[in-house]
Amino acid sequence: MRIGIVGGGAAGMFCAANLNALKHQVVVLEKNADTLKKLLITGHGRCNVTNLKQPEQFLENVPHNKNFLFSAINTFSPNNLVEFLNNNKIETMQEDNNRIFPKTNKAQTIKNCFDALASFNADVKLETEVLSVSKQDGVFEVKTCNGTYFFDALIIATGGVTYPTTGSTGFGYNVANSFNVDTIKPRASLCGIRLKNTPTNLEGTPLNCKLSILEGNKVVATNLGEFLFTSFGVSGPNVFTLSAKTEKHSIAGNVLSFDLLPNLSSEQIKQTLKTYFKNNATKFVFHALNGLINQKLAKFILAKCDVLENKQCANISNDELNKIAEALKTLRFEIDNFDNLERATITRGGVSVKEINPKTMECKKVENLFFIGEVLDVDGLSGGYNLQIAFSTAVACANYLNGLGGN
Ligand SMILES: Cc1cc2nc3c(=O)[nH]c(=O)nc-3n(C[C@H](O)[C@H](O)[C@H](O)COP(=O)(O)OP(=O)(O)OC[C@H]3O[C@@H](n4cnc5c(N)ncnc54)[C@H](O)[C@@H]3O)c2cc1C
Repeated sequence: MRIGIVGGGAAGMFCAANLNALKHQVVVLEKNADTLKKLLITGHGRCNVTNLKQPEQFLENVPHNKNFLFSAINTFSPNNLVEFLNNNKIETMQEDNNRIFPKTNKAQTIKNCFDALASFNADVKLETEVLSVSKQDGVFEVKTCNGTYFFDALIIATGGVTYPTTGSTGFGYNVANSFNVDTIKPRASLCGIRLKNTPTNLEGTPLNCKLSILEGNKVVATNLGEFLFTSFGVSGPNVFTLSAKTEKHSIAGNVLSFDLLPNLSSEQIKQTLKTYFKNNATKFVFHALNGLINQKLAKFILAKCDVLENKQCANISNDELNKIAEALKTLRFEIDNFDNLERATITRGGVSVKEINPKTMECKKVENLFFIGEVLDVDGLSGGYNLQIAFSTAVACANYLNGLGGN
């Protein structure tokens, strides 16, 4: 069979590596001057290549369309990936929360391995941007900037729309739409959240607390952990997870609420402050808060509550105490929206999973047209889940094609 793979990223190259070269003639069409540009920057250049959880626990970390992945992850699990890497002489190491990295600490190690395996099985054409795809009489005609190719099966592995400097600009959605295959409007995920009025004096301040996105009084998503204020709003692990846990397409106009002391109830906070104020009557109120929360934030909260930093604890009124306690429990900022696509780690949205056979990644409407990797409307949390999704969907597709007849 003549098989074309559009996109030489994680999904495309892994699929090429797993196709049977004795049965198929495989061509990878990659628009960049080199393959795996995005993979090289994963895990800060160290490549958190998977997460060694059993499939069931793995899927708990896929907040969007996890059921679609059930078959693919069970067929090619994180354990299978580690085995695959080890069989190809890549030693791996496990870090906190089951995250797996190459022992060299270099994404380049993974790239070298995939490049070698894929080019053994396939003709990898670089600087070959695919411009359009059509199908006639069972054959795909693929027009590129370097000529036209014809394939019996076509695999779209063009990634999402986030981080477009690595080559993923949403081309796969155009292909889907040209075949009347539904796509879900993309948005940024595993990303920062822009605030309407980011307090400039808090930029760079790290915090560890409970964050919630509120639409009116309804909690849209909530998460506990570390993050920091940036020039545009908030970012960091807790915020990334919060963005991925949010099903909504837009959070413009919603509220980001901080529970700075999630282990204490409002009543307990009031009592703690009351006791502190009583026992430290001559101290400045700033010092009372300084013991509880970050110094810069303590200043910010007092200003927000119209309480002077150097007011003595004995002179704090009940009203003021209640205001401070409330701000510690529900400090609110109006949200502008998710961060820009350019900076986000992954894309939420893409080719609708309803259009795809979850066992083979074949498009239900178009025979021999496949979608794998981030181009699909499925995404995981940070921690190696997204690369594993790319690998498992690639293997599902390769296994199916390997099971078909030869030329
Ligand atoms: C900064 C950053 C860090 C990350 N870290 C991790 C991590 O540590 N662990 C993890 O699991 N995930 C991580 N991810 C997510 C992970 O990198 C992606 O989910 C994964 O790369 C998706 O693989 P893909 O092959 O589907 O898409 P991509 O890797 O984006 O590959 C798509 C390829 O298609 C090519 N292409 C696009 N259009 C065309 C066209 N018209 N013609 C020809 N070629 C085309 C592109 O040039 C590109 O090479 C990270 C992402 C970012 C941005």
